[in-house]
Amino acid sequence: MSTRNTIAIVGRPNVGKSTLFNRLVGQRQAIMDNQSGVTRDRHYGYGDWIGKNFTVIDTGGYVHGSDDIFEEEIRKQVKLAIEEADVVLFMVDADAGMHGLDEEFAAVLRRYQGQKPIYIVANKADTHARAHASGEFYALGLGEQAEVFPISSQSGAGTGELLDAVVAHFEEAGEEDPDSGIPKIAIVGRPNAGKSSFVNLLLGAERSIVTDIAGTTRDAIESKYAAFGNEFILVDTAGLRRKARVNEDVEFYSNLRAIRAMEAADVCIVMLDASRGIEAQDVSIIGLADRNRKGIVILVNKWDLIENKETNTARDFEAKILEKIKPIAYPPIVFISVLNRQRVHKAIETAIEVYQNKRKKIPTSQLNDTMLKEIEKYGPPAVKGKIVRIKYVTQLPTHNPVFAFFCNLPQYVTESYTRYLENRMREHFDFTGVPIGIVFRKK
Ligand code: GDP
Ligand code: GDP
Repeated sequence: MSTRNTIAIVGRPNVGKSTLFNRLVGQRQAIMDNQSGVTRDRHYGYGDWIGKNFTVIDTGGYVHGSDDIFEEEIRKQVKLAIEEADVVLFMVDADAGMHGLDEEFAAVLRRYQGQKPIYIVANKADTHARAHASGEFYALGLGEQAEVFPISSQSGAGTGELLDAVVAHFEEAGEEDPDSGIPKIAIVGRPNAGKSSFVNLLLGAERSIVTDIAGTTRDAIESKYAAFGNEFILVDTAGLRRKARVNEDVEFYSNLRAIRAMEAADVCIVMLDASRGIEAQDVSIIGLADRNRKGIVILVNKWDLIENKETNTARDFEAKILEKIKPIAYPPIVFISVLNRQRVHKAIETAIEVYQNKRKKIPTSQLNDTMLKEIEKYGPPAVKGKIVRIKYVTQLPTHNPVFAFFCNLPQYVTESYTRYLENRMREHFDFTGVPIGIVFRKK
């Protein structure tokens, strides 16, 4: 078995292959090397499950012509999956029920039975009834131990059980995503804030574009850069580098692509125009980034336009921004001038620091040493005569910093005490730019 640990998803159009693909690769699409000359529409990405890394191929990406799919294409898709993958997922639609094309796929797949493990995945089994009804696909006479896995790619239900079964076939840990650890940065902001100018300046720095990412995501363009000694991936929003031709007044944030780019990124740079200050749409994208647990950096561009700057000018400006984005208080604010190339380096450095903060893992002993002292100093207030005792703190193995406080009565911890703990956490550990989660668990 290859160390690649490859999973291929096959099936007729619209069953949800790319939805499952996106769930498995966790938004991290594979990056293609321009030089290697490989085709750009290879739909593959990296994922991992209980300590096993794997590559996922969405073979549907090769078959064009949507519903007009012919036997030739089915054969091509299946052949590719069998050749490239260690495990094949044959996806059908539990909502639509059996379809003639499913039977055609099954007929082709049956020729390869025994060569590779094949699983039937009944997607869109969003409800119990649909999951139950997916039993009809046993009739396809395929599948590892003839099993049908009902899942919902949309909600993620059932995907854990499926992955448990799939990764059991992988003997080795597998190759890690070569781009894990490289921050993905999205730059958003109102028209004219200076986003394109900023990107163009970065492009001019040192090495420009290193690699472009495969056309897997339908909405965001991603490119890998090295600037000022740092590697990062820029998630472009529509018309960022090529100036948008459309009406500039179009509400920028109603543009789904900006939101998609933000969602695909680790860190969201929100660029403001110093001459306009922070506006309602900026506040809402910051709120959205916070809810999506993204790192956030606020850049105040065109600082050159502010005349008669005094020592307090930046501080007052900063206070106004923080007032508007309350209760979010953690984003760093950097004042720059793309025009004068002022603090552009600092801006990128800050974004990378925020990314590092987002990935930070605090050792449990250190966490307990500092936080239990703070809790001793000021314990949770009694609610309805109930005394909450926090015994132990640990960081959860999540992609964003989340801290679990184990206690006897988690339901009695107040919101203000949660805020107290978050503030102490931020005092002791640098989580600048990053939303952190505080949860209470029963001991
Ligand atoms: P593909 O052509 O096989 O790659 O299918 P897509 O991933 O593009 O999905 C086709 C449609 O099915 C999209 O509208 C999805 O939103 C929808 N879809 C995907 N997974 C689910 C699911 O688990 N439940 C439901 N209800 N819809 C889904
Ligand atoms: P985008 O719509 O956010 O991509 O904004 P652009 O990069 O196209 O910039 C809009 C306008 O602001 C252009 O005329 C730029 O030359 C100008 N601009 C960009 N950065 C600065 C800056 O730091 N200072 C000043 N004074 N103008 C700037």
